[in-house]
Amino acid sequence: MFDPKPYIRTVPDWPKSGVQFRDITTLFSDKKAFRQLVDAFVHQYMDVEFDAVVGIDARGFILGSPIAYELNKAFIPVRKKGKLPFATLEESYDLEYGQAEIQIHADALKPGEKVLVIDDLIATGGTLEASCKLVTRLGAEIVECAAIVDLPDLGGSKNLKDQGISVFSLCQYE
Ligand code: 5GP
Repeated sequence: MFDPKPYIRTVPDWPKSGVQFRDITTLFSDKKAFRQLVDAFVHQYMDVEFDAVVGIDARGFILGSPIAYELNKAFIPVRKKGKLPFATLEESYDLEYGQAEIQIHADALKPGEKVLVIDDLIATGGTLEASCKLVTRLGAEIVECAAIVDLPDLGGSKNLKDQGISVFSLCQYE
């Protein structure tokens, strides 16, 4: 399995003091590593039956799009509030200070469709949990949530698994 860690840059004290930000732009900007990254997810899901990749704004778009293309699936964006032009469903989730809202188009998925939800990183899991709620409110089913990086100490992936949602990540930082 491809190990993305050597290509991920850790930026200390960003966006604020005490945070070790895992910067994946250095993984995307290495052409060989980017291909290996996408291929790793394609290989992981090539024999899985599903209909669409749901990508989360914004780094989930960069990763989710080539996976959907290569596996011949639809691509559905979950966007930060105010970006989608048609009727939307909305979910709020907690940030460290305050709340954030994400939206999906009300007609983006049909009941019974199976989706793979993709983001770059799982921290508290709030973003993925809210995205999964949007998907299930449309009647679609989550095959798995997938990310490049999981930060298990923050409990997000465990929380998702405790809700019966399957989670996959390529690497973890303790
Ligand atoms: P959560 O909702 O799981 O707490 O945070 C995950 C979301 O915040 C993801 O959408 C991710 O893009 C972003 N995020 C939080 N921390 C990091 C980080 O260290 N590196 C990157 N690349 N994204 C992060």
